[in-house]
Amino acid sequence: MVNGSSWPRGDVMRVSVLGATGSIGASTLDLIGREPAQFAVQAVTANSNAVALAALAKKHGAKLAVVSDPAAYAALKSTLAGTGIDVAAGPAGLEVAAAMEADCTVAAIVGVAGLAPALIAVARGQRVALANKECLVSAGRFFMANVRRHKTELLTIDSEHSGVMQVLETRNRDQVVKVTLTASGGPFRTWTAEAIATASLEQALQHPNWTMGPKITIDSATMMNKGLELIEAQHLFDLAPAQLDMLVHAQSIVHALVEYSDGSVLAQLAQPDMRLPIALALNWPRRRPTPTPRLNLATAPALTFEAADETRFPCIRLSREAMQRGGGATAALNAANEVAVAAFLAKRCKFGHIAQVVSASLDLLDGRGLLGEPQNVGAVMELDGETRRVAAETLAGLGDGR
Ligand code: NAD
Ligand code: MG
Repeated sequence: MVNGSSWPRGDVMRVSVLGATGSIGASTLDLIGREPAQFAVQAVTANSNAVALAALAKKHGAKLAVVSDPAAYAALKSTLAGTGIDVAAGPAGLEVAAAMEADCTVAAIVGVAGLAPALIAVARGQRVALANKECLVSAGRFFMANVRRHKTELLTIDSEHSGVMQVLETRNRDQVVKVTLTASGGPFRTWTAEAIATASLEQALQHPNWTMGPKITIDSATMMNKGLELIEAQHLFDLAPAQLDMLVHAQSIVHALVEYSDGSVLAQLAQPDMRLPIALALNWPRRRPTPTPRLNLATAPALTFEAADETRFPCIRLSREAMQRGGGATAALNAANEVAVAAFLAKRCKFGHIAQVVSASLDLLDGRGLLGEPQNVGAVMELDGETRRVAAETLAGLGDGR
């Protein structure tokens, strides 16, 4: 999508996977494991699950395995003793993994915790396959400036953005009227506002179409995920907020639509399977066979589309407002959301509190004049930290929300 060249070049592609033990990490390594002649694994990382990471490192012959949590280092070291696989831990270890020589680094850590390693990978000027949308929501301007400066090939691993990438005609870039991302609507698509407000964790984790990590699954249930994705698309494709829209499409078969000035709308369709956008990001601009089930429109369910409901899903409005406002608002939106979702996952607040905490945190920071344009990534991370403190206080003020 940016600075694209061509793979495969006939030689083996060396791939590092940051966030290897997660949902995207697992799908990436599944694809890599199917084509051992095509790919070689360099570094793999995880937060704290040393046993799972060691198993992946051994299975795929990785050169380096890193746990972010220093407390998990001893377990990783002993499990990989005698294998010849290097081990490291903590932020410094993560930096070494991100900086390791590789033809493609898959950035699949969840949350803003993945920003620093993703920026290190970007600075290497090789291909980066980006799953971590929070990077772009928090620091999109700086992230994309680094991509341009280092001439990095940036490919998206987000199904809707991969869809946009496939139907965005480079020669007609100036004729794009609107880019629409579809949303499944999540498990509460047909629920009333009252029922949604008190939905349980188990209900919120039941995504109808996708199997994903816990944070993005909750983001899909609040529909914050689609709001984050509009901001992601704004930066990835250099679009104005007014050019971005969303549409609820419960079947998750049409992933994105691009409307041009002549009235033509180009859409990308496929079965919902993350291995497809991952394979495309690895092989871009080539397509190679994937294990994704084929789409048969004669037998597929009828495709339906409806407008998103900002009243029942207030996170859509909050994210749109933050996108329009720009500056530090999107970084704060992301940080407050990370805190609120973590609290809900830990059963420390109600589902309806997520939007409340995000909204109240943004208002408080705005009142203190803190949502101006951050001048560098350090300032983004300072705002992220301050927002986390404000959001935690807001949560504490809710009392026992269970
Ligand atoms: P996940 O929770 O399944 O995996 C996250 C990975 O990051 C794990 O390997 C975990 O060990 C690691 N990690 C977590 N916290 C960390 C920290 N503080 N420091 C370092 N490593 C840490 O998440 P996922 O569903 O694979 O999503 C990963 C990213 O991809 C997210 O940004 C998500 O929005 C995006 N994404 C995911 C999907 C999907 O289908 N899962 C689709 C589109 C985009
Ligand atoms: Mg998506």
